[in-house]
Amino acid sequence: MEQLRLDDQMTALSQAAGTSMLELVRELYPIMRSITGPGLRATVRRLSAVVPLNITEVPTGTRVFDWTVPDEWRIEEAYIENESGQRFADMRDCNLHVVNYSIPVEMTLTLSELRPHLHSVPEHPDWVPYRTSYYQRDWGFCLADRQLRSLPEGRYRVVIRSTLAPGSLTLAEYLHRGAIEDEILVFAHDCHPSLANDNLSGVAVAIHLAAFLRTRKTRYSYRFLFCPTTIGSLAWLAMNEANLGRIRHGLVLSLLGDSGPLQYKRSPTGDRPIDRAAWYVLHREFPGSQLREFAPWGYDERQFCSPGINLPVGRLTRTPNGEFDEYHTSADNPDLLSPTSLGEAWLACAKIFEALEADRCYVNLSPKGEPQLGRRGLYQAMGGYRDIAERQLAMLWMLNQSNGNTSVLNIAERSNMPIGLLADATLALEKADLLSPVQPVAKPVYKW
Ligand code: ZN
Repeated sequence: MEQLRLDDQMTALSQAAGTSMLELVRELYPIMRSITGPGLRATVRRLSAVVPLNITEVPTGTRVFDWTVPDEWRIEEAYIENESGQRFADMRDCNLHVVNYSIPVEMTLTLSELRPHLHSVPEHPDWVPYRTSYYQRDWGFCLADRQLRSLPEGRYRVVIRSTLAPGSLTLAEYLHRGAIEDEILVFAHDCHPSLANDNLSGVAVAIHLAAFLRTRKTRYSYRFLFCPTTIGSLAWLAMNEANLGRIRHGLVLSLLGDSGPLQYKRSPTGDRPIDRAAWYVLHREFPGSQLREFAPWGYDERQFCSPGINLPVGRLTRTPNGEFDEYHTSADNPDLLSPTSLGEAWLACAKIFEALEADRCYVNLSPKGEPQLGRRGLYQAMGGYRDIAERQLAMLWMLNQSNGNTSVLNIAERSNMPIGLLADATLALEKADLLSPVQPVAKPVYKW
């Protein structure tokens, strides 16, 4: 059976991937994205150059569970002009200046009439905040608090050349086919405009994982989704509800480029294989990693883990949403990210996949006493390895614990051995007819 195994090239690969990911983030950063529209399409087109994506356009007005796909938003320009013709909060300088999904506006206002439409972050007077108004027709501008405070009384001309009209919502996905149809889902939201850690870091890590898996044979199939947050994951779930039973494990990725430690957020029950595999990898191999319990807040794990969908999906970030100062402001720019942080997050995901791929139950076919390994050539087979004793120990653990319902991950947790080593031992024992995999009993998906 094909199974993902990582080799000693992975550290070098992760460093190269880190550099490439940061380049991709810098390239995507200036694009004016939103939950619909041309910027979102340009983004998935660029991602398709890394790995070819399947694009689905979901028309405006489509009902997706309790939501409806909104009108498509397009924007040409947005700025405020004072009486002497001086422009500020110009979208061309920073696309966060215009409230995302603003309706078209062209009017002249007094400062006090304009003020309710202006947003800033007083604690960080030079940063421009990010605000959206997707589902409520409104308009506004975001600007540095220092600039907001310095505005003199007078009249201001406001220009927002945007359109809100029937169009579609763009979903993009890539399916890597493994030996079995069961899937591991990887989700990254791709709807934020010029914000780097919040969404572009997750997008870059996800597309680079897809590119890596294309070069490898795997047991599971992997589905990578790039969708606008909330409405995008809901639309994808609504359109694919009949096939959700194939998803065995899932990870939502975002906020992976800052210098904070990796943080894994558990699924609602906290005991799914993805929860255990992620924590097994993180606490062993990425010191300082943190674990957090599920809460129905954050990113699209809220949709995947809603009671009527109930998929085993966790989330990997570094510093979580809302817990770093730069979050949802112009200070969340590519300079906040490092290739090392991105590369390490990429490597952590690859190792979690490896653990999930190895995690099967086996039964010992010679359980009465220890089978004689030397007679089967298993000692000779181990001759070239430096960690001969460890490999032997891994075989003994597998033989001792493989009762048909103790999985490789259980054995890895109990023995505190690297799961890759146990996976190698398992393959050798399988070849020698000493272990046989147990077909997993398909658990019915609970229907709400
Ligand atoms: Zn966000």
